[in-house]
Amino acid sequence: MFIRQGDVADGSQLSAAVCILGAGAAGITLALSLQEAGIPVVVVESGTLELDESVEALDKGQAVGIPYDLDAQRRRGFGGSTNCWSGWCVPMSPEDYVARDWMPGSGWPIGRAELDRYYPAAARVVDIAGHEFAPGAWMPNLGLPDPPVALDGFEAGVWQLSPPSRLGEKYRAAFESSTRIRCVLGFTATRLVLDRGGERIQSATCRALGGKSLTVKASLFVLAMGGIENARLLLLSRDQRAAGLGNENDLVGRNFLEHPAAIEGAELYVWKDGPGHAFFAKAGKGLRPQGYPVSPAGGAKLPASLQGPARADPVSVVLGLSLAEAAQRRHRLPQFWVVPSEGPFPNPEREREAREVLSALDKGVDRAFSRIGLTFAIEQRPNPSSRVTLGTERDPLGEPVAVLDWRIGAEERTALKRILSLLGESAARAGIGRMRLVMDPESERFWVPVGGAHLMGTTPMGDDPKKSVTDRNGRLHTIRNAYVAGSSLFPTSTYGNPTYTIVALALRLADHLKAAISRA
Ligand SMILES: Cc1cc2nc3c(=O)[nH]c(=O)nc-3n(C[C@H](O)[C@H](O)[C@H](O)COP(=O)(O)OP(=O)(O)OC[C@H]3O[C@@H](n4cnc5c(N)ncnc54)[C@H](O)[C@@H]3O)c2cc1C
Repeated sequence: MFIRQGDVADGSQLSAAVCILGAGAAGITLALSLQEAGIPVVVVESGTLELDESVEALDKGQAVGIPYDLDAQRRRGFGGSTNCWSGWCVPMSPEDYVARDWMPGSGWPIGRAELDRYYPAAARVVDIAGHEFAPGAWMPNLGLPDPPVALDGFEAGVWQLSPPSRLGEKYRAAFESSTRIRCVLGFTATRLVLDRGGERIQSATCRALGGKSLTVKASLFVLAMGGIENARLLLLSRDQRAAGLGNENDLVGRNFLEHPAAIEGAELYVWKDGPGHAFFAKAGKGLRPQGYPVSPAGGAKLPASLQGPARADPVSVVLGLSLAEAAQRRHRLPQFWVVPSEGPFPNPEREREAREVLSALDKGVDRAFSRIGLTFAIEQRPNPSSRVTLGTERDPLGEPVAVLDWRIGAEERTALKRILSLLGESAARAGIGRMRLVMDPESERFWVPVGGAHLMGTTPMGDDPKKSVTDRNGRLHTIRNAYVAGSSLFPTSTYGNPTYTIVALALRLADHLKAAISRA
């Protein structure tokens, strides 16, 4: 059931087995899974069922590093940022799980098998066709060979696109009719209060914009408020611990990660009669407008691994390329992915320049080519100075705003330049075409403030309390009943978009909490 602000008397108290703070992708998934096991849950959601500007104002913060619009990168409201997400889904890559000596903080405390158990259920939450991302499974359905393109050092990748599912809309009725979930709307958690022993959270203090306050008591607490607010609440809770909760090693808020990206930061001129054109022409369709339809209705079939009852919704996939693992190792480079998109030149001047470059490089050969815009992103190096702290300005509840100092280091710039030159060399060697940088990655202008609204880092999981904030289950190392859900758990920024993994991790946490509750 939903409990609206009007139904709550000032100063009231609620209690449940589990209190989940935040009803976005992680919080909704977790609450529904716990209620299936009969566990009573209180969910506290800062927003309401409608998006409301006065509540959104709580997301205003200060960006002091790379320009970053904290407002535009998330939503306050039931469903969280899935109210505006684009729906791109991809699992972590095998490289994400393992330690790489050239990537600080790399190597997740959990292995691939852990998440593979939960991805199929996560696929149902976000409404993609199923947990099938192997290019070989999709290529025949897309009329492409496997592999679809031969580019030394790079391999094809598949994203599935959620419609995109707005999880607030999708699960509103399930919450409304639930007798196990009480979801309090319009209350913002502003403090976590420790019990006398100091090792457990006793309650969460929550406040509404109208001035009411509410206390929630629970045996277990889960912070599911997104990558910035999870850290902010721990830092705000400094009445009993001067540095905030879980922050004994000054790690909360540090290592903020995004996916530095450049929209059409380079162009590839692909010969129309060459070996890569079929792939690049199809990959390009992915972006306009929403993926490449491969539903039965669209003429093509789902991969054999996903065939079952016919789907009403079309299935959409986008094709991209990533830097192959062997190339990452050989050149000690981070992960990188690029989504190509065929399209016209933005202006005649650019077309003239491209023709000049091509005829100089290819000794005047006058061949027909397609312009492929390359939109790409890179895995960021964890950097303790890239961080979330508390500011001096106050939000509408009178609490210090989040200050984000997002930094992209020289290593990322140099690595990206190197990867792009590898891509250009491979394309030329394979006879696919020629690549041209639209701008130099080492120039400031190149890094338009583009991230993917992927807010990662800030409370990473790990086995060593000196290097991580939570353990492998997302539990704060130093507080026995407080867990974190969401991409703030990510020790490294992973391959691609985070939400599919956020949902899989929330399902895994639900199983962990169910087991903990049944043991208690
Ligand atoms: C424009 C845009 C496009 C995106 N596209 C993609 C994409 O294509 N693919 C992808 O994987 N990801 C995408 N994302 C990111 C995706 O939306 C997030 O990764 C995902 O929603 C995060 O889930 P979450 O549950 O951790 O946080 P959220 O979904 O942000 O939910 C957090 C919830 O906590 C609530 N909250 C915050 N503070 C408090 C508090 N103190 N007390 C109580 N409640 C609180 C908020 O109101 C919100 O409802 C996109 C995001 C944006 C903004």
